[in-house]
Amino acid sequence: MKPEAGARDGTPRDGAAGDAGGGAAAGVPAYADRVRGSLLGGAIGDALGAPVEFDSISTIRAVHGAAGVTDLVHDRHGGLGLVTDDTQMTLFTVEGLIRAHLRSRSTGVGGEEVRIMRNAYLRWLDTQNHRRPPSADDVVRTGRLREEAWLYSRRAPGNACLSGLSTELGPLAAPGAPGPVNPRSKGCGTVMRSAPFGLAAGDPGRAFRLAAECAQITHGHPTGYLAAGAFAALVASLVRGVPLERAVRDSRELLGEQPGHEETSAALRAAVALAAEGDPSPEAVESLGGAWVAEEALAIAVYCALVAGDDMERALLLAVNHSGDSDSTGAVCGNILGAWHGEAALPPRWLSRLEGRTSIVRLADDFVTAFTGGDLPSDAYPGR
Ligand SMILES: [Mg+2]
Repeated sequence: MKPEAGARDGTPRDGAAGDAGGGAAAGVPAYADRVRGSLLGGAIGDALGAPVEFDSISTIRAVHGAAGVTDLVHDRHGGLGLVTDDTQMTLFTVEGLIRAHLRSRSTGVGGEEVRIMRNAYLRWLDTQNHRRPPSADDVVRTGRLREEAWLYSRRAPGNACLSGLSTELGPLAAPGAPGPVNPRSKGCGTVMRSAPFGLAAGDPGRAFRLAAECAQITHGHPTGYLAAGAFAALVASLVRGVPLERAVRDSRELLGEQPGHEETSAALRAAVALAAEGDPSPEAVESLGGAWVAEEALAIAVYCALVAGDDMERALLLAVNHSGDSDSTGAVCGNILGAWHGEAALPPRWLSRLEGRTSIVRLADDFVTAFTGGDLPSDAYPGR
């Protein structure tokens, strides 16, 4: 595959340029920094929250002290810095987007993204159903990630993600209508895996659309897929260098144009209003819900980023110290903060102990290579 001319300046192509590219202005993270930052930041938030995912705030305080978790802590099996299904699926989203992008670039024909993404998630499902990488090849069990033994760990994957991938995907929903798979499911499994859609498409509207479509691979409730779309649009704006408050406002505007947006819009409205009050606490976080459903997970992550996002450690700790789905809110908040501030802002003491760090960086860099017009080995990223 020939590289596209003039595409190695660090800016994403396909209308994705914005002002995110190349680190042109001093102190402004380059596109590659934001992609790495978002993926690693999400993984850090995931690893911080994972050991307390199913604990109430009173249990968290009893075990870890009045301030709750203030560092990476060991899980019940002695693991430290381990990520969960949130990061695993996010990485497969990255791989699916690379493969879809390279395919459309080489064939000149797009429109295969949802099918290719479903194959990517089937490879993730493969890691959950098998104990180690396969020796045989087939159309689904291909590519680089499925060869990574560390991903073959079950870390409390969501039911709708598992069952949805065992269901054939029919035609996608009309706007605002229930989707074809798990039509009543709006678990946060849609949001927690969807940051890469924003990292890929500089246009927030396209990021929204693609994330919402691919969310329907497993979750059909409109709130489930619209929250994923709003999250991807938010990340897309951040990658273009839009400041967080404006990026949230722009995402809410896009969301408000969608039929069936009301539940997600109400959750984000509450998050923004609460952030304006300041004075963050676990109790304030919990007033936004438990994050087991998509709109609450997004709202809590946005709240934590808005209220404390200049201090990434504080924001991430706020995002995991509550009675709800701590690893997912940590992951989504980390995706946001990393896209906003870039890799250099990630706390080194957490980054250094993060599971899969080398693989995540390599995948992030391959993603940037693909979306800035560069070449990647076709056996690593076959176009399907
Ligand atoms: Mg998880």
